[in-house]
Amino acid sequence: MNICPICGQGELETKFYGREMQHKGVNLIVENLQFDCCHECGAELTSPEQMNQNSEIIRTAFINERERVKREQNLLTGVEIRQIRERLKITQKQAANIFGGGSNAFAKYEAEDVVQSVGMDKLIRLASDVPEAARWLFENAGEAYSNNSILSCFKIGGLRPNVYVSKIHQMAISSSDSGDENLSAAPWCDSLTCDNDRKYVDAA
Ligand SMILES: [Zn+2]
Repeated sequence: MNICPICGQGELETKFYGREMQHKGVNLIVENLQFDCCHECGAELTSPEQMNQNSEIIRTAFINERERVKREQNLLTGVEIRQIRERLKITQKQAANIFGGGSNAFAKYEAEDVVQSVGMDKLIRLASDVPEAARWLFENAGEAYSNNSILSCFKIGGLRPNVYVSKIHQMAISSSDSGDENLSAAPWCDSLTCDNDRKYVDAA
């Protein structure tokens, strides 16, 4: 039993509430926010722990809403941008150097703090889906591009293997033309279905 620190007599009862609010310019409806209410003096108190929980609930609602709006607008979510960046084996700083947008751009995109422009979104998708475009962007920014990025991601288990499989298949075909033994030797290549028309977001 928690005693009210204001009157020193009443018992505190935890109450839950929901509200409509704006967080970083986004309208949210949040539920299950908490505070304590004193039966004697009517004081309403929010403990540091409740404040942290409330902040976490608001933050989660914000990210969910941002992701929903981004999907609606056919933009990559922060999680998807991070997955592409990690697949390309670059840091957030390197990504900013390669794609532009300012030095903290990718930290902000990935945390859903900032929504990327349509142009930036297309550029990230291009680098993700077209190895030669990625190579051009990397080399133009003075960053080393590894052609094995997609393959090694597949090995450790990506979230959307059908997309990676498609890319690996294309890479294997093009590399067998150019005589790259590492890729053309892949024995499982012929058994894979090539799904070129599948867009990244459709694979969700
Ligand atoms: Zn009280």
